[in-house]
Amino acid sequence: MSKLFSKKGIKEKKKDKKCGKVDKTMEVYFDISPDQIPIIYSPNYNIRFLGLQKLHPFDSEKWDKVFNLLIGAGIITKNTSVEPVEAKDEVLQVVHPESYLNKLKWSAYVARVTEVPFLFALPNALVQQRVLRPFRYQTGGTILAGKLAMERGWAINIGGGFHHCSKDDGGGFCAYADITLCIRYLFNNYPSVEKVLIVDLDAHQGNGHERDFLLENRVYIVDAYNREIYPQDEYAKGAIKKKVELDDSVEDAEYLVRSIRSVNEAIEEFGPQFMFYNAGTDILKGDPLGGLQITAQAIIDRDELIFKAARRNKIPIVFVTSGGYQKCTAKIIADSIVNLKNKELLD
Ligand SMILES: [Zn+2]
Repeated sequence: MSKLFSKKGIKEKKKDKKCGKVDKTMEVYFDISPDQIPIIYSPNYNIRFLGLQKLHPFDSEKWDKVFNLLIGAGIITKNTSVEPVEAKDEVLQVVHPESYLNKLKWSAYVARVTEVPFLFALPNALVQQRVLRPFRYQTGGTILAGKLAMERGWAINIGGGFHHCSKDDGGGFCAYADITLCIRYLFNNYPSVEKVLIVDLDAHQGNGHERDFLLENRVYIVDAYNREIYPQDEYAKGAIKKKVELDDSVEDAEYLVRSIRSVNEAIEEFGPQFMFYNAGTDILKGDPLGGLQITAQAIIDRDELIFKAARRNKIPIVFVTSGGYQKCTAKIIADSIVNLKNKELLD
């Protein structure tokens, strides 16, 4: 148990003292039992309908596959893993204005955000239920991961990492700003957390959290991304303290040296009390969107080096899976988590 926070403080916040009403924004922030492991997943994460999983270039069942591979590897069981709750409007509104949540009531807007054009022709109730609800569960998982990492030193959400969504605009398959939400919850509930380091190693620039934290000096962002691909958001780049701009010829060794060096320098310069690691796997060779040539082994090495940096410096760390939806991706994510366990980085 971390000395950094008072558990009592959080419990008190759950009730409004005047009228005894439960604070609904705290529903996502529940306690887990000592025998549970802070690996977070819900069957509600997965998007399965109308053959979408076949039409979309993404393996939209990767979350379920990672979970089952981790059970197969003996890392978790259905009882020891943690099932999050859906992030409902009260929770989302901690960051998102109502005007943004209203935009998601238009199927045409959701079609643009998710890059699945045919959603535009569907009734919004169906889009909410089958597409946005899984994202809301994943968002609930990311917010909870912040709390569990404070208590256990680390937490993994087998989903989330919607780094293209800012508080008032979605894009690139990202409808909710789960990273911003996780960090806002930390600032609101843990006075000891004054400085948060975001390490975004997905192949794409994380313009959503960057736009949200552009003027926030409590957040330091390291972002390594392919400079040639979406979103090329120059305005959002103003929030990045350490940019690692990659081109498609970058090889494993150079990728690892440049990314990890930036993270170690950031820890030294900034002295964060929390790390948020967006561990996208779309840097993998063959990814149709990422455009990079990194091997599976280098992804496993990367995750290990990031965890070592956090754990060595006693910085609580959240890991989310973010982009990367090739058929082989789930196995790489699971292998990487097994490697973290084997290297005693999940103790
Ligand atoms: Zn990506």
